[in-house]
Amino acid sequence: MHDIWNPWHGCTRVSEGCQNCYMYYLDEKRDMDGSVIFRTGSFQYPLEKKRDGSYKIQSGEMVRVSMTSDFSLRRLISGGLPHGT
Ligand code: SF4
Repeated sequence: MHDIWNPWHGCTRVSEGCQNCYMYYLDEKRDMDGSVIFRTGSFQYPLEKKRDGSYKIQSGEMVRVSMTSDFSLRRLISGGLPHGT
């Protein structure tokens, strides 16, 4: 396993299973609003290369993806999200 890639941050609570969402919990501790969904600064991470020209994420490596959002969010699929930092 290589790393974590969070292309988006934020989510929409959709069920009672979201009541104890860890992302919302951490955002509250950081004075952030977990319902605000934005594209993160690491959105292009899988395309980034090292100084030697090789990709930072090598082919075949496992990456934990979207730990701070949900890929199935309609807003992510349709695009048009603001960029974050
Ligand atoms: S990240 Fe998961 S648990 Fe949290 S609000 Fe989104 S869907 Fe619910």
